[in-house]
Amino acid sequence: MTTGKIGVSTQNLFPIIKKFLYSDHEIFLREIVSNAVDATQKLKVLASSGEFKGDATGLKVRVKADKAAGTLTVSDSGIGMTEEEVEKYINQIAFSGAEEFLEKHKDDAATIIGHFGLGFYSAFMVCDKVEIVTRSYKEGAQAVKWTGEGDTEYTLEPTEKAERGTDIIMHLAEDEKDFLEEGKVQELLTKYCKFLPVEIVFGKKKEWKDGKYVETEEDNVVNDTNPLWKCKPAELKEEDYLKFYRELYPMGQDPLFHIHLNVDYPFNLTGILYFPKIDNKFEIQKNKIQLYCNQVYVSDSVEGIVPEFLTLLHGVIDSPDIPLNVSRSYLQSDRNVKKISSHITKKVADSLTDIFKNSREEYEKKWDDLKIFIQYGMLTDEKFAERAKDIVLLKNTDGKYFTLEEYENLIKANQTDKDKNVVYLYATDKEEQYTYIQAAKERGYDVLLMDGQLDTHFINHLEAKDSNHRFLRVDSDVIEKLIQKEEIRATAWTEEEQEEMRSVFEAQIPKKGNLYLVNFEALGEGAEPVVITRSEFIRRMKEMSAMNPGMGFYGQMGDQFTLVVNTEHRLVKSILKDEQQALGEKLKPIVEQVKEIEGKRDEIDALNKDKKEEEIPQVDKDRKKEYGEQLEQLRKEKQAVLEEYGKENKIVGQLIDLALLANGLLKGEALNRFVKRSVELIG
Ligand code: ADP
Repeated sequence: MTTGKIGVSTQNLFPIIKKFLYSDHEIFLREIVSNAVDATQKLKVLASSGEFKGDATGLKVRVKADKAAGTLTVSDSGIGMTEEEVEKYINQIAFSGAEEFLEKHKDDAATIIGHFGLGFYSAFMVCDKVEIVTRSYKEGAQAVKWTGEGDTEYTLEPTEKAERGTDIIMHLAEDEKDFLEEGKVQELLTKYCKFLPVEIVFGKKKEWKDGKYVETEEDNVVNDTNPLWKCKPAELKEEDYLKFYRELYPMGQDPLFHIHLNVDYPFNLTGILYFPKIDNKFEIQKNKIQLYCNQVYVSDSVEGIVPEFLTLLHGVIDSPDIPLNVSRSYLQSDRNVKKISSHITKKVADSLTDIFKNSREEYEKKWDDLKIFIQYGMLTDEKFAERAKDIVLLKNTDGKYFTLEEYENLIKANQTDKDKNVVYLYATDKEEQYTYIQAAKERGYDVLLMDGQLDTHFINHLEAKDSNHRFLRVDSDVIEKLIQKEEIRATAWTEEEQEEMRSVFEAQIPKKGNLYLVNFEALGEGAEPVVITRSEFIRRMKEMSAMNPGMGFYGQMGDQFTLVVNTEHRLVKSILKDEQQALGEKLKPIVEQVKEIEGKRDEIDALNKDKKEEEIPQVDKDRKKEYGEQLEQLRKEKQAVLEEYGKENKIVGQLIDLALLANGLLKGEALNRFVKRSVELIG
């Protein structure tokens, strides 16, 4: 028997492993089992090259938990190790500058393990003693037993072992006995070893018999040695992909599409990505893609390896070329990884383009679910945006789908305004904006439905791509002005008439909550008397700020609407006429006083016309100020009279309420008042 010291340049390695790798300590099982798998695979390679003459078929790796002995054992029938090989591979963890490196990366377990090939030593995170009993495949090889106790000492001695291969016997530390529980071991094997290429056996299969589970003769194989992503796409059917998806995500709904990645140049990468079906838009989850390295599970965090938007997908990526055991920041700057990332983007775009071209009907059927992925991709990844611009669809309020180009061709003739902008009309809610959608359709316009989570952002994206494209929600202006093809006629009402009517209408506008501006337009006799519109710009800013806390200013603003009064409508005209008749006498003295004061004010102005501010006599300035105050006072008086009148005007109230109602803005007490008034007006 030899004893010796493990060849590391630091005494502190094991404490460091234990301490810093603690959070990840369950990976020891992955490391030990994948070593066993590697040893088995190596034997198969030697067998196929003729170097190993024995039978290398049907080899399995066995995992056994022995609670009485407190050990977890992983056994393989792989190449085994000779005494020299144990010396070389286990004892001499040869590296330089270890201390420095460990210090630098002490918080990053994966980096340390990967850098030093400490796979085997990770067992010491959970064991106080580990034994290796191994016999090499080489003819006449002497079996040896290595024992280590988690410090830098070890013993190595000859031993008896009937079969070729290696047993790793792990004596679990007192506080790690959990790893002897059947359920725990099964869970870890399922998590990390589910797709390893050599059968992993853990106990016997169980069967329900006479009211309880009993063991059968059959080995309990925990893994699928030939996972779907390793198969040739041409040999697979749709059902195979579905079945595999259900295996990966037993709780999920069937996916929309899959993409089989199969790259061998300039790097090696296989995998299957699924576009998941999302019912509840809030349940979008990242990190559902599993990352494998040669079928060994590594992580379910693929950020930095696939483009950000693809982290929303599900599935599996397997590549020996991704430096998996390094830190995230290293990964993200790695040139290989960048190439892989852009290659995946290209593959995804290509596959979607194929589906779009070959089965457009199916693509359209799934579009509503697919949309969020494609839009997110286009918004966050310029290259993807370029590739996907021909397969992104717009849906109109009749449920028809168009590519961007198709849609532009559809609306160009009828929806180009006088400034040569192509105006895209859209609705965000078919029910709420029904009146406006109808009005637009009656004009022969087409209306898009933009009710997706990312639609506001996507609209901005499309407008930014082409400055001649404008998107307007159907209720952002009166139909006559939505797509202005020629100059609009101005209203025939004088400033004064508008001023008077503004006070009358304002008297009945809801005072709480939203802000309403009153405007007068000549919309024609046939148009509605009063229409409420909502500024596209302010609404969109508010929507964006709801998603982006940085734009708090717009978020705090109330909703802003415009109450457009049609001065050519019969009812509106008679409101003005009635008011003038009713208030003419009452307002006359006020109006006359105003005229008089304005006259005096103008006189002073005329006198001082060519003077600079400092040359105007103080008495003139004082008088002007006084007139200004008097005018303001009169304006208020007049307004009070008009408001008093307006408040009692049932027609004004009714017209405003109807416009509010058409927008779903009439609620509660106001709605109740409206109903009562309507009954009254009917007679
Ligand atoms: P890595 O696997 O990263 O090389 P490890 O510390 O896990 O690092 O293993 C070191 C070496 O020990 C392996 O490369 C292999 O040569 C040898 N080894 C480990 N486990 C076994 C095994 N079960 N059978 C044969 N050789 C093994």
